[in-house]
Amino acid sequence: MDYIIAISFGLVFGSFGNVVISRIGKGESVVFPASHCPKCGKSLKWFHNIPLLSYIFLGGKCAFCREKIGLIYPIVECATALLFCAALYKTGANYHAIFAALALFCLLCLSVIDFQTLHAPDSVNFAALALALFATTDLLANLQNALIVAGALCLLRMALSSAIQKEAMGEADIIVGGAMGALLGLLGALLALYFAALIAIAPALINRKKGNAQTPFIPFLAIGTLIVFLFGDRIAAILGWNF
Ligand SMILES: [Zn+2]
Repeated sequence: MDYIIAISFGLVFGSFGNVVISRIGKGESVVFPASHCPKCGKSLKWFHNIPLLSYIFLGGKCAFCREKIGLIYPIVECATALLFCAALYKTGANYHAIFAALALFCLLCLSVIDFQTLHAPDSVNFAALALALFATTDLLANLQNALIVAGALCLLRMALSSAIQKEAMGEADIIVGGAMGALLGLLGALLALYFAALIAIAPALINRKKGNAQTPFIPFLAIGTLIVFLFGDRIAAILGWNF
């Protein structure tokens, strides 16, 4: 029953996430105007707005102009539902799970925005950090871990930037690092950063070959975070670490 609730709320938040992604990414308001088709501008009816189901019934097209709706919409909805289940699975049915789920949801939105625009809006970024602070019982320890990880990344960024004589990492990555510290603890965040860097190597090289100077890093930070959030205790047991 808990998982049915998690999936339902996940789909609804995922639907809201699509609004956040498509509007905040472009610097528009999240609240006004009402949902509309980006092509023909017609306002959507309530039954065009049902997560996942509307996409399936409309065949992935706008009900008015038949313009194709991006596959990213149902993907974000399903991914959010899965993240909510992940938070429930790891944290149990308590209010910390809600904060963990929403923090992961913000990281998902940030990832898609960063992937699409190479920018990460501060509003969503700080929301992820603030939510992550409440994802476990020990608020003070979470705050401390957030500050240490963000501070360490800040120093790393300054060192790297002076070494290569240009901006290394984005400021947004540092705030995401803070959320990772709060959510995963120090060793967990370190492990997640390691996974993120490891997974990002191949895409970054391919991107450079194609002539794109920048590779969005937040999606990889989010993937690393999810891996450690779900399997951190098992990985730590293999490594003999004490989380
Ligand atoms: Zn349309």
